[in-house]
Amino acid sequence: MLQSINPTNDEVIREYEELTEQEIASVLQKSQTAFEQWRETDFSHRAPLMKKAAEVLRDHRQEYAELMAREMGKPVLGGRSEVEKCAWVCEYYAEHAESFLADQPIETDASNSFVAFQPLGVVLAVMPWNFPFWQVFRFAAPGLMAGNAGVLKHASNVTGCALAIEEVFREAGFPEHLFRTLKISSSKVGRVIEHPIVKAVTLTGSVPAGKAVAQKAGSVLKKTVLELGGSDPYVILEDADLDLAVPTCVNSRLINSGQSCIAAKRFIVVDKVREEFEQRFVDIMEQKTMGDPMDEGSDIGPQARTDLRDELHGQVEQSIKQGAQCLLGGKIPGQKGAWYPPTVLANVKPGMPAYGEELFGPVASIITAKDEDDAIRIANDSRFGLGAAVFTRDAEKGTHIAAEKLQAGCCFVNSLVKSDPRLPFGGIRESGYGRELSHFGIKEFVNIKTVYVK
Ligand code: NAP
Repeated sequence: MLQSINPTNDEVIREYEELTEQEIASVLQKSQTAFEQWRETDFSHRAPLMKKAAEVLRDHRQEYAELMAREMGKPVLGGRSEVEKCAWVCEYYAEHAESFLADQPIETDASNSFVAFQPLGVVLAVMPWNFPFWQVFRFAAPGLMAGNAGVLKHASNVTGCALAIEEVFREAGFPEHLFRTLKISSSKVGRVIEHPIVKAVTLTGSVPAGKAVAQKAGSVLKKTVLELGGSDPYVILEDADLDLAVPTCVNSRLINSGQSCIAAKRFIVVDKVREEFEQRFVDIMEQKTMGDPMDEGSDIGPQARTDLRDELHGQVEQSIKQGAQCLLGGKIPGQKGAWYPPTVLANVKPGMPAYGEELFGPVASIITAKDEDDAIRIANDSRFGLGAAVFTRDAEKGTHIAAEKLQAGCCFVNSLVKSDPRLPFGGIRESGYGRELSHFGIKEFVNIKTVYVK
């Protein structure tokens, strides 16, 4: 049984029966049939449908924002912009898929040689609850435009969102079964990966889930793209503009109530500006309002699940036990629900969870660096490598650090790390492999075919 539980008050919203083995097989078979017809269509047929999906999303923006607020606690303001961003990615691929996947002529000794991009078939998407719409659309928009079909195994706590997404494609006029939600728990994912109809898998989620899925897919030789956790470092150099850096760092730390893979997690501050950064950071964190996600004025809502909140608190307590200083928050409020306040830990050192692990909630870890080189060394001292940012008034130096020194998939200067349909998104090390978005993303799940005519 899959349960949707309101994290503001722990009340069960709804329970969903899981699909049986036969029902899963039947969905996959229908998706395969839909794919076989869909692959024959051209871009002029697909693009208007994808544009229509954007319209459907916008028409239901408030409804979907409220659904996310109920199922996983995202404040409605954030929910509405998430839906808007989904509409953007649909429009982006509706407009660009054809040029991204156009045949590429390559001169050789042949009379004609070129590269063609062909769909793979039914792709399984295993997705997390934190951006329950965005994570799915950033896979589905390029995936369907490329001619694939998609089956979605969404996180067990957001089945309402999963079904709403299926409905978006139906309402937009896509063929029935081209995009389907599989109501299954994670224990059934392995069987789906093994199924001959499923040709590839994309997973966004934690490192353990990524490893489990990659292992299974590897055993049956199916391609995977993995977007996993992160512990993004934000490097604050001596010459940083703190008026810009501090609010940007706070905003990035608190994105989605702190539950974003590319939220700033480690603040690596050069000693000379550390005290001022810390004071200003705590001041702004303190002003943020934690409250009902349905309330337009809430900056952060509850955490998505009580067990995850408890895990986060354990990491905070352990770090404090090892010598971290708690400058703000750090206590579970005495009320029902998965609440956790904005929290700031200073004096964070190697060996503490706040240094080496991902803290998936509104907890900032401040780490002192001796100088620029030391700050870069600490930034790279991580098993993750998703995003990173550097703050400096010297744009040239910042660009050099971002391009050459920081070891991560997405490196930003004087800005928070964010995803954008036009730019590739993904990580290195335990943050995963493969890229989503841009022309790189749409080429992950296609057969890059060489054609050679003598
Ligand atoms: P999660 O527990 O890994 O769940 C993600 C998805 O994987 C869910 O659908 C989950 O299903 C499924 N899953 C879990 N264990 C599995 C297994 N052993 N085999 C197959 N499927 C499995 O992650 P989460 O708590 O939802 O999300 C938080 C994590 O995702 C964080 O680490 C965050 O950094 C990462 N994330 C990464 C990105 C990125 O783009 N790199 C974006 C967002 C989030 P159930 O719900 O049924 O367990």
